[in-house]
Amino acid sequence: MTNFLTADEHHFLTQAERHDTGGYDSWRKAPRNRPFVVDIDARPLAALINAAAVGVRVYEFIAIQRPGDLLHYLWVTIVDLDDEVIQSVKDSVAYRNPYAFDKNAPLSGLSFVEFDQCFIWQGDDTYLEDACWRRHVEQQYWRDKLSDLFSLVLKLQQRLRGMDDFLLQNEIGLIDDKKHRQDFFATVQRKCILDSHNLSINTDSSDFYKVLAAMIAQDDVHSVSCPFGGLTIWRILVTEQIKRAQRLGLPPDEAFTLYGPDTGLNDLPENWGGYVHIPYEGMCDGDIVFLPGWRVFHAEEAGIDGSLAQTMRMQGCRYLFVPKSRALGDLPCATREEIGDWVLYRQKPENQLLKDTTLSDSLQAQIKQASELIASADALLITAGAGMGVDSGLPDFRGNEGFWNAYPALAKTNIKFYDIASPNNFSDDPKLAWGFYGHRLQLYCNTQPHAGFGKLLKLAANKKQGYFVFTSNVDGQFQKAGFDPKRICECHGSIHHLQCINGCLHYIWDAGEFTPEVDEENCQLLNEPPKCSCCGDIARPNILMFNDFKWEDSRYNIQQQALSQWLAQAKNVVIIELGAGKDIPTVRHYGEMLGWPLIRINPRNSDLGSSSGVSLPMGALAALNAIYSALK
Ligand SMILES: [Zn+2]
Repeated sequence: MTNFLTADEHHFLTQAERHDTGGYDSWRKAPRNRPFVVDIDARPLAALINAAAVGVRVYEFIAIQRPGDLLHYLWVTIVDLDDEVIQSVKDSVAYRNPYAFDKNAPLSGLSFVEFDQCFIWQGDDTYLEDACWRRHVEQQYWRDKLSDLFSLVLKLQQRLRGMDDFLLQNEIGLIDDKKHRQDFFATVQRKCILDSHNLSINTDSSDFYKVLAAMIAQDDVHSVSCPFGGLTIWRILVTEQIKRAQRLGLPPDEAFTLYGPDTGLNDLPENWGGYVHIPYEGMCDGDIVFLPGWRVFHAEEAGIDGSLAQTMRMQGCRYLFVPKSRALGDLPCATREEIGDWVLYRQKPENQLLKDTTLSDSLQAQIKQASELIASADALLITAGAGMGVDSGLPDFRGNEGFWNAYPALAKTNIKFYDIASPNNFSDDPKLAWGFYGHRLQLYCNTQPHAGFGKLLKLAANKKQGYFVFTSNVDGQFQKAGFDPKRICECHGSIHHLQCINGCLHYIWDAGEFTPEVDEENCQLLNEPPKCSCCGDIARPNILMFNDFKWEDSRYNIQQQALSQWLAQAKNVVIIELGAGKDIPTVRHYGEMLGWPLIRINPRNSDLGSSSGVSLPMGALAALNAIYSALK
């Protein structure tokens, strides 16, 4: 970038001036006139100004309001001084600040304030070298010198105020309004350092920064997770954040959510007036995600049925920046674009994904086989597990990591899915239990079933003997997608129904009248939990949980009877199994037990075992799309 300081100004600040104090008489040794010569320069001031010009330490620079403030930014280099005086300086500094320097290393330079504090006037008891330095710094020369420097600083503060830079102007506005965060610190934090590390700000017209700035301005981007430092990137991100906050009249983090590296960003965004969430450990999800070297990348999830979010074990990620050095090559679920040192992957839209991606020959043959099975069947039995909902954006809680990604509040307290899905929680800690289930209830109410449901229903509705659904999902997505409630059997119950925790009267009622208000951050229900109208105790979802002896199964029993009746008269049935996992294998076993041909759709565990049929190692949506297209 162009230098903020002119060459003359830079020279004036960094050029050392020699100070020969005239020496002092030592009582320790001869000859009597001992040397006391130091060089003094204002390199720390130059470092501060250069930092302020790129948006770092702006407050500190603007807060220079008197010549004496400048003493904090002078540097003393010892030129000629007796060893015992140098030693006493070292001892004195080390006494005040044990970490100031390596005591065994030779002392070459110090901040002026540190150095000056080593020479104290103590009346008649003053050491001769102390008196020598004190006399030197009381001269008119210092006042003139500081006044000259101060005039320059005033000029440079004006120059900074005139810079055409959004973040800088925003920060200066906060300072002028006395609303800067540092206005509320007890003192101005002043650092005397010679150079400013990591201040490289890249303002070349690099495509990467242009693309990034354009991307984050898109309406569909609400969050960015960037576990990297880098002044340029963060200035771009926080600029967008503050612009949105001003436009929307919202706090910065609500207007545009930013997640930084877990090592922090030295409060820079906060000084600029923005806000960046720093994760305790690791990284967060976001619409745009930067892939750090340490993060495991599941390339196997980037297939036709996968998504960028799945590769990161996240939910939101639709744009992924990967350092060029980490060669990931082409990912079927995304477009690839090289921009500067980065590769940008953009998630393909669903329909695009199918059109663009050519299925392998073997997979195509299997899809053909599956569609022929369906075409020749007279009845469809649809069996489904959590994997069916993933394409609608629902979490499937695969492993603790998957579960905790969906419920970060429970990760904090190390509560596993097994722990939270326990009926005891409703009596022990109903706010927590309903924090979890209330959130899920809202989530399922707000989720639209993906397009695969509709296509499946069309296939099923055309069958002579119709269809039946057997599912372990409690989310009610089949009903919502238009499947006949009388043709659905929910073997783990339904979150849209409630029962008493004591199992009063074997009564099950609709959850529709209960609207949970949930503090998601802490996984707590804020309003009153629903109550049993019989005993007045707390009501819980009519879901089969772990170690659940009070689950009210009357609703399920009725569904199961209907299913049995249908199966008893159904002939020529084909089973389509979607996203049924191995962890709780109820659904898998149910289909295998019936002995009809089985189409097993599962991106991870699609092996048929002893069943006969077709195995499709794909996600539910992709498989249903492909089968539907093949049948048309
Ligand atoms: Zn009751």
